[in-house]
Amino acid sequence: MPERSEGHLRHWLVQPGHAAGITQRRPDDLSGVPGDRPATEAATAGQIAELAGLQDRLWGEARRSLLVVLQGIDAAGKDGTIKHVFRGVNPQGVRVSSFKVPTPVEQSHDFLWRVHQVTPKAGEIGIFNRSHYEDVLVVRVHKLVAESVWRGRYDDIVAFERMLHGGGTTIVKLFLHISYEEQGRRLTERLNDPDKCWKLQRSDFLERSRWRDYQMAYEDALSRTSTDDAPWYVVPAEHKWFRNWVVIEVLLHTLRAMDPRYPKAAPPEDLSDLSDLQPDAHRPGSEEPGR
Ligand code: AMP
Ligand code: MG
Repeated sequence: MPERSEGHLRHWLVQPGHAAGITQRRPDDLSGVPGDRPATEAATAGQIAELAGLQDRLWGEARRSLLVVLQGIDAAGKDGTIKHVFRGVNPQGVRVSSFKVPTPVEQSHDFLWRVHQVTPKAGEIGIFNRSHYEDVLVVRVHKLVAESVWRGRYDDIVAFERMLHGGGTTIVKLFLHISYEEQGRRLTERLNDPDKCWKLQRSDFLERSRWRDYQMAYEDALSRTSTDDAPWYVVPAEHKWFRNWVVIEVLLHTLRAMDPRYPKAAPPEDLSDLSDLQPDAHRPGSEEPGR
């Protein structure tokens, strides 16, 4: 099974030092799909169970952590991915951080300040719903800082992620890839569905008109920051059921390679002096210990 998934991983991986080539990748690509939709969903249920087991071991080991960075254009499916992929894990060991327009306090610090505060601690899986990459994406597209400033950030990001990696954090970065047409369909669906309308922002439509600028910004960001320590994967995200399967496949591969282990706790040799632990110590009607 691992050999099979590694082949898939290479297919979606942005090879370090190479162009991501996102416009040449099909957002509706189904390469590696384990079967039709029902078969893939059934496979996903199995994956979710395995993910839960690996997360439990990571949490028990409490020595290393996993950081999952999720990026994608509006309506690419970041929220849905988090909802579906992590539905089996123990919430205690998982933390989702969503990055919005920086607050005045965040704005008055360097761009990595707010990010570093929420990186996962030992044992945790940290999920970034958007991330420090916004500072070379939306910030670039909207010219919120000078070009020399955002260009310098690629190196800052690579150095920051290398530092996290050196400290015991494994990093996986996922770009959810959809087409312009699919984004249009999803935004229209939200507009017409009273249960989804709340998700829409005016800015979603304004950003859509800058599609090409965003694709260029993504292409540069992924090409310049995919490293062995913190690789980018381009996830074909047009079919949500396949997207979920791919995302978990990448996470499983990563966690299997980490191979977290429960700590070896030797049972105490002799409990006989701990009278409170004796099976009969507190049975109703039994004599108080020591009487
Ligand atoms: P949403 O993910 O739909 O809740 O929207 C969050 C919004 O915050 C998006 O429009 C992002 O582009 C924006 N955002 C996130 N980080 C930054 C940043 N560093 N600078 C400016 N806007 C940002
Ligand atoms: Mg949004």
